[in-house]
Amino acid sequence: MALIVHKYGGTSMGSVERIQNVARRVAKWRAAGHRMVVVPSAMSGETNRLIALAREIQAQPDPRELDMIASTGEQVSVGLLAMALKALGTDAISYTGWQVPVRTDSAYTKARILSIDDARVRADLDAGRVVIVTGFQGIDELGHVTTLGRGGSDTSAVAIAAALKADECLIYTDVDGVYTTDPRVVPEARRLERITFEEMLEMASLGSKVLQIRSVEFAGKYRVKTRVLSSLTPPDVPLQVEANSGTLITFEEDTSMEQAVISGIAFNRDEAKITVMNVPDRPGIAFQILGPIADANIDVDMIIQNQSVGGMTDFSFTVHRNEYQKALDVLEGKVRETIKAGDIVGDPKICKVSAVGIGMRSHVGIASQMFRTLSEEGINIQMISTSEIKISVVIEDKYMELAVRALHKAFGLDQPAAAIGA
Ligand code: ADP
Ligand code: ASP
Ligand code: MG
Repeated sequence: MALIVHKYGGTSMGSVERIQNVARRVAKWRAAGHRMVVVPSAMSGETNRLIALAREIQAQPDPRELDMIASTGEQVSVGLLAMALKALGTDAISYTGWQVPVRTDSAYTKARILSIDDARVRADLDAGRVVIVTGFQGIDELGHVTTLGRGGSDTSAVAIAAALKADECLIYTDVDGVYTTDPRVVPEARRLERITFEEMLEMASLGSKVLQIRSVEFAGKYRVKTRVLSSLTPPDVPLQVEANSGTLITFEEDTSMEQAVISGIAFNRDEAKITVMNVPDRPGIAFQILGPIADANIDVDMIIQNQSVGGMTDFSFTVHRNEYQKALDVLEGKVRETIKAGDIVGDPKICKVSAVGIGMRSHVGIASQMFRTLSEEGINIQMISTSEIKISVVIEDKYMELAVRALHKAFGLDQPAAAIGA
């Protein structure tokens, strides 16, 4: 008898019928003797609807109240799922984040989980109940409701699995696993049987929204066995078949199989580029520009500083689009004057495309293959950043799909390779 956490995303919870299917699936696992905790998201579209409502009242919604509103979608889901389970004769109980409690910091709309009290959940598990806990939300030390950022139910599920030392966390979603790239953009994308934790971390951080990055961080830190699989198969699929389907996140490189050089292509349109023109090229400039940005709690991703001409240079960096205007305001507000910079130019029409693979460590020429492929498509590269297992480029966003398809093909990801991600 294992302790298993299931997570169901918005599409999986998207209608009464789908919730009843989720209940059948969970009841099947319970009937096999497993101790079950289930973490559902809000029904699909619900979180967007709630945020849009808030924006009708306030264009820039008050973050505390926004979290109060946005967190309610999950409260509806847990109640409905508990009822659906009870209707099948499976004892179940639902909890919100604050009832558990799931404690977070106070960074509204992007809070981080600090700790999870497992006593209440364990008591219900001991009493034979399926415990259903809201995804996406928690409570800070002053008792304010917080949310964990879009897609945050993944993180709730893996964090709960870690807190309970669960045997496995199964992330049920609307695709049957992690693919070489988003199958909505490249229909030839292939499902990976396995992906290493490091690759999944890069894929998630570079824009593959199949898992929220913090969930992957939790999986790595606490060694949570995590699998991504489909919630859209018939709920009565034999349990053993279901338990081995999808994509497993692994922590060891399996050296017995030949490692593919590139495991996947990730992309995102969530960033914007800011260029501070004509800044004096002297020590302290990066700090004078990025210090106030950090003080404003804005995360910076890629940074590039050009060769100086006549002692002057241009300094560019990217931030999340949600924080683009705020970053521009910070720079115009005080930084420009202090450092005597020229114009500050913003460009939100960019995207980042990345190739990810631990095989890169032992192969040379991957970067040049990537650059050649993009040049053959006539795509200009604006920024580049690399790590041991990824190469990212910033390009004009109208070329995103073209670039993703071309790279997916150039790295042979559409071919049934022997052991991609194994
Ligand atoms: P959920 O509501 O279940 O959390 P999400 O929409 O957050 O589901 O994530 C699943 C979606 O992630 C898929 O429908 C797919 O379009 C997208 N996706 C992006 N990159 C990938 C990838 N590499 N593999 C699989 N799915 C991906
Ligand atoms: N409902 C939240 C969202 O739409 C959390 C999640 O789905 O993971 O972002
Ligand atoms: Mg999601």
